[in-house]
Amino acid sequence: MIKTDVLVIGAGPVGLFAVPQLGIIGLNAEVVDNLDKVGGQCIELYPDKPIYDIPAIPECSGKSLTESLLKQIKPFKTNFHLNERVQEISKQESNWKIKTNKNKTFIAPNIIIAGGVGSFEPRKFLVKGAETFENKGIFYSVKDKNFFKNKKVCIFGGGDSALDWAIELSKFAEVTLIHRRNEFRGGEHSAEIVRKLEKEGKIKIKTPFQIQSVEGKDKINSIIIKKENGKTEEIKTNFVLGFFGLIMKLGPIVEWGLNLEKKHIPVNTENFQTNKEGIFAIGDICTYPGKLKLILSGFHEGALAARACFKLARPNEKYRFEFTTTSKNIQDKLGIKKSD
Ligand SMILES: Cc1cc2nc3c(=O)[nH]c(=O)nc-3n(C[C@H](O)[C@H](O)[C@H](O)COP(=O)(O)OP(=O)(O)OC[C@H]3O[C@@H](n4cnc5c(N)ncnc54)[C@H](O)[C@@H]3O)c2cc1C
Repeated sequence: MIKTDVLVIGAGPVGLFAVPQLGIIGLNAEVVDNLDKVGGQCIELYPDKPIYDIPAIPECSGKSLTESLLKQIKPFKTNFHLNERVQEISKQESNWKIKTNKNKTFIAPNIIIAGGVGSFEPRKFLVKGAETFENKGIFYSVKDKNFFKNKKVCIFGGGDSALDWAIELSKFAEVTLIHRRNEFRGGEHSAEIVRKLEKEGKIKIKTPFQIQSVEGKDKINSIIIKKENGKTEEIKTNFVLGFFGLIMKLGPIVEWGLNLEKKHIPVNTENFQTNKEGIFAIGDICTYPGKLKLILSGFHEGALAARACFKLARPNEKYRFEFTTTSKNIQDKLGIKKSD
C-alpha cells in the first residue's frame, strides 16, 4: 500500500505539470499511466510535430515538451507507475483507496484525474488463441529488447512501430515482418531500410498477409498467415509482436460515480473539483463553460487543483501564496543553491 498526498492519474503534459505545482507547495505525488512511457498524446500521437502555443516557448515538439516537463519534475523525485491502469477507487474514511489493474493500492486524500481522452490501449489480434498467449508469447509493446535475442519473432503491422522494431530486432533475432498491405504506412526512410535488410537476407517480409491462427499449447510453436485469396502459410516462431496502433477508451473512469457530460468530467472552475470531494479533473478530460482543449489551459487547471489539494492533505496548516522568484522555501524544495 502506497500512501501519498495526491495520486495523479495520467502522465500526459497536464498530469506532468501538476506534479511540480504540487511539489512547490510541499505535497508529494505518485503518477500512474496506462502507457509504457510518459507524455500522453504528445508522445503517443505527435512526438516530432512542432507545437507553437506553449507560453514563452515559440516552438517545441511533443517529445521536447515532455522532456522539459520531466526536467521540471526532477527535484521532486516522483515515482511513475507505468503500464498500469487505475481500475477502482473507493472512499476509506477521509482518504481515497485507489487500485490498479496490477493490484497496486494507493491511499491518498486527493486524486487528480488528468486522463486526457482516456487510457490508450493497443489494438489486439482478434484470432482464436491470441488472448491465451498475451504477455507470454504475444506482445503489443517491447519492454526489454534483449528478451528476443536469438529467437524467432514475427512482427505484425505497417506503421512506424512495426518497422522500427523490425529493424532493431533484426540485429540479433530472426525477424519476419508481416503486413496486410504491400505498402507500409510508416516513414519512408524506415520502409527503405526494411526493404534493404530483406535484400541482404536479414529480415523476411510477408505481404499482403494477415494472421489466421496461433498454434501451440504452453508456448507458441507457429502461426498460420493467410492471403486475401485464402492461400495460407505456416511460420515457425517463438514470439509474435502486434503493432496495430492504439484505441482510446475512457475506460474504468466511467464507473467511479463521477458526473459525466459527453465522456468528459464536469468541474467547477474555482478549484477543478468534480462532484466528489478530493477528486479533481484537469486537462482534456474535464469540461466547464468555455473549456479549451489546449495544453496551456491544462497547466492553469493543474495549478489551481494543486492548491485545493493542500486543504485536504494538510488540514491543520494554512496555505500561503508565494512566488517562485522570491520564496526561499520554494527554492529549497527545488534544490536551488544561491551563492549570495
Ligand atoms: C495531432 C495533435 C496535435 C495537437 N497540437 C496541439 C497544439 O499545438 N497545442 C496544444 O495546446 N494542444 C495540442 N494538442 C492537444 C494536446 O495534445 C492535448 O490537449 C493534451 O495532450 C492534453 O493533455 P492531458 O495530459 O490532459 O491528456 P493526454 O495527453 O491525453 O494524457 C492522458 C494520459 O492519461 C492516461 N490515462 C487515462 N486514463 C487512465 C487510467 N484509468 N489509468 C492510467 N492512465 C490513464 C493515458 O494513457 C494518457 O497517457 C494536439 C493534439 C493532437 C492529437
